[in-house]
Amino acid sequence: MPPIQTLTVLGATGSIGVNTLDVVARYPERYRVYALTGASQIDKLLAQALQFRPRYVVVLDEASADRLARELKLAGSETEVLCGAAALEAVSTAPEVDAVMAAIVGAAGMRPTLAAARAGKRVLLANKETLVLAGRLFMDAINASGAELLPIDSEHNAIYQVLPRAHREHPYGQTLADVGVKRIILTASGGPFRTRAAETFAAITPEEAVKHPNWAMGRKISVDSASLMNKGLEVIEARWLFNAPPSEIAVVVHPQSIVHSMVEYADGSVLAQLGTPDMRTPIAYGMAYPERVDAGVKSLDLFSVGRLDFEAPDLARFPCLRLAFEALEAGGAATAVLNAANEVAVAAFLDRRLSFPGIAALNESVLGALAGLPADSLEALMQADAAARESATAWLAREGVPC
Ligand code: NDP
Ligand code: MG
Repeated sequence: MPPIQTLTVLGATGSIGVNTLDVVARYPERYRVYALTGASQIDKLLAQALQFRPRYVVVLDEASADRLARELKLAGSETEVLCGAAALEAVSTAPEVDAVMAAIVGAAGMRPTLAAARAGKRVLLANKETLVLAGRLFMDAINASGAELLPIDSEHNAIYQVLPRAHREHPYGQTLADVGVKRIILTASGGPFRTRAAETFAAITPEEAVKHPNWAMGRKISVDSASLMNKGLEVIEARWLFNAPPSEIAVVVHPQSIVHSMVEYADGSVLAQLGTPDMRTPIAYGMAYPERVDAGVKSLDLFSVGRLDFEAPDLARFPCLRLAFEALEAGGAATAVLNAANEVAVAAFLDRRLSFPGIAALNESVLGALAGLPADSLEALMQADAAARESATAWLAREGVPC
């Protein structure tokens, strides 16, 4: 029996957090929960705390913390309640913690994830925005501390599984070419609007955008999937995770989401990871690595899948993917700028203050204005993030068309 792993789940109340706890519940002899964190879903966090009995729960504001503490006490729980950003870092770096599931959504997840990397934890990385915002800095922290980094994003988890072990575990010791890899092929479902005519994009509602054909996910990533910004963020994520130059990363649309991604080798071999689309596969892979455990996922039924289709992404209808490549090429803080602009745009779209095509228009405008900012320190990146949010808010006031 492997030693018990003690886990902090950042973003426990979200889609990835809930799937993580589903895996934990299957293996009480393997995993113990040290801390669970949430933001707005306090009742859900309470129920999770009563079921998993963590040492701590963390929320963002005092009022939620007080209410949670009262209810936990009433229920006879010994779980303590902590509050605020510093507490998120504390439960990510505590000496008792072996692994941190980084599943807060957006740039808000970056600091505790970076703290876990600096503290040498096993980092289970769902929060791709950390790499988009601070990729080089984060990978430097992983390399300096010797932390283990396991990608949870399904595409990157697939690539991790089919890369040579030496490269996936230490991608900065050599190049992809050195280990015989020609390119990484990221698959994209194409989202709910893959076949929709561009002329109708202005009429897209938030309800339509969050209805992903193959995956049940949080609202922000669902909108990103619909605009293909998610694939753009994933290209940037792959660049850092696998030490891959942008020219060695390709994107192919694969509507069935059965092939989760591929790696092409110099000899012409293409290795892929396939499976039923269920986030418990990459989550369990990361948690149990290098072992494999039953994650409760339905076997892949190839007969009912029947066929696998592949097509090129349409950059004219989905310019966000192009913007991600441009931001990578621009270097510096450009990807941080794009990420922040996109967070403002998606929030505005979900609030009906911005049309769907407005997301790409806002992102393009802010990236164009601020791409040249430096990225030489965490402070510089945070300044770029703040400047992009300010510029995006001004753009919204000036040109935002509601949906
Ligand atoms: P959800 O929106 O479902 O969950 C987000 C989590 O973060 C919730 O626990 C939420 O708390 C918490 N949270 C929200 N805002 C803040 C904040 N400002 N500070 C601290 N905590 C906060 O998102 P997902 O689970 O879908 O995604 C999480 C991350 O994983 C994202 O970065 C996403 O890109 C990535 N990812 C997700 C996949 C998926 O299948 N869902 C696939 C691949 C990557 P509360 O709900 O209590 O408000
Ligand atoms: Mg993904």
